[in-house]
Amino acid sequence: MNAEQRQLLTSLPKVDLLLKRPALQQWEKEFSRYLIKQSVQDVLEQVRRDIVSGQCHIPPDTAYLEAAVIDHFKSSRRFHLRQVINATGTILHTNLGRAVLSAPIGSHIADIAGHYSNLEYDLAQGMRGSRYNHLQSLVGQLTGAEDVLIVNNNAAAVLLTLTTLCKGREVVISRGELVEIGGHFRIPDVIELSGSVIREVGTTNKTHLEDYRRAVCEQTGAIMKVHTSNYRMIGFIESVRADDIASLAHGYGLPLINDLGSGLLVDMCRFGLPYEPTVREALQQGGDIVLFSGDKLLGGPQAGIIAGKKQYIEQMKKNPLLRALRVDKMIMAALEATLKLYLDENMAVKNIPVLQMLAQTSCECMAKAKALQQLLQEGCPDLQAAVETCQDMVGGGAYPEYTLPGYALVLSRENITADALERKLRRAEVPVISRIQKDKVCLSVRTVAEQEIPLLSRMIVQALL
Ligand SMILES: *Cc1c(COP(=O)(O)O)cnc(C)c1O
Repeated sequence: MNAEQRQLLTSLPKVDLLLKRPALQQWEKEFSRYLIKQSVQDVLEQVRRDIVSGQCHIPPDTAYLEAAVIDHFKSSRRFHLRQVINATGTILHTNLGRAVLSAPIGSHIADIAGHYSNLEYDLAQGMRGSRYNHLQSLVGQLTGAEDVLIVNNNAAAVLLTLTTLCKGREVVISRGELVEIGGHFRIPDVIELSGSVIREVGTTNKTHLEDYRRAVCEQTGAIMKVHTSNYRMIGFIESVRADDIASLAHGYGLPLINDLGSGLLVDMCRFGLPYEPTVREALQQGGDIVLFSGDKLLGGPQAGIIAGKKQYIEQMKKNPLLRALRVDKMIMAALEATLKLYLDENMAVKNIPVLQMLAQTSCECMAKAKALQQLLQEGCPDLQAAVETCQDMVGGGAYPEYTLPGYALVLSRENITADALERKLRRAEVPVISRIQKDKVCLSVRTVAEQEIPLLSRMIVQALL
């Protein structure tokens, strides 16, 4: 260190002196002296390092340090997990938190979380109750299931089901259904983890009822069917109808486990999507245990729902593993509130954001894109923003080859590349997640709520200042 550096170091203001600056005093009053002081120390420490490493040659003035402390403090107060604007047009975006919940459901969660509740208390009897009883009759009404159990997610549902019903025994499953769902979740791995043994039948593209029949033996614990929601086989293919597998299983006194992935409670044909069985249909087709996610097309919180025959679910309730997979009261609250909306299908479509986004017509998307364009023309006249058609996705591994016709605002500006523009938007105060298409930033509005349009516009304008 040379004399100039030593001089710079001694010229730095003391922590207490900086803390006396009016703006910092104000922050201190509103928040915490301890945390403001920490920010002051961190900022001064950084400046000292810059001086020693030769990156700082002039004494930083106090106003500059004060601003640096405020910046530091603000960013240290920001949550790491925070709201973003999804302008990708993918409704169930796994990286962006999958299903969005509505504001009334959010406030119901806050009510249950902020107060005591009857989570495990039987109000009628005045004694201990079960957290699993809250949804029994509701799910029964919606799907025809005898009993229901809620766990952390569908992966947990598969694990608990197999561990309870098939540990040490064989699970018969078609080779065409040994799929990877995503995020390293592979059906064969979960079967193995459950302590049961995979008994693969058929071939990748074709499985016959006879293949299942030949595989059943004394060691068999269950027959399993997995809905291959995230890929589609075409051509020379054949799989066995669920009701035929169910008859075979029942003939041997075995349960049929049907992992549906997305739990549909309404027929997706009403949204113009191809037919897939609903939970009720899967149960009617003889599924003894039907498994599905809470936060895929159901549009609720992350959860795994196990619906089906009481005799099997009773066994799962006694499995100690359930304790490790159990859900919190906030999830229960959100799930019940979501499921209640399905009592009237039209109410569900109107009030569940995932279904709203699916049902949105391209006309409605165009209107939102135009509203955003208008706001941007006022706020940022040198930005080029064109309304164009785009293809939106369902996401969450559902309907992989199917797109929804929507509208996007396509942005470009002189002297800035699409990559740089995308990055600026992503670093906004409320980050905007967009896609780049044909070298332009593309903001699909299907996944942006109407009330979010002014915020989105502000974030774009701020990012480009
Ligand atoms: C998505 C999916 C799962 C995993 O569900 P999570 O709720 O994400 O754990 C399991 N099985 C199938 C068929 C799926 O599509």
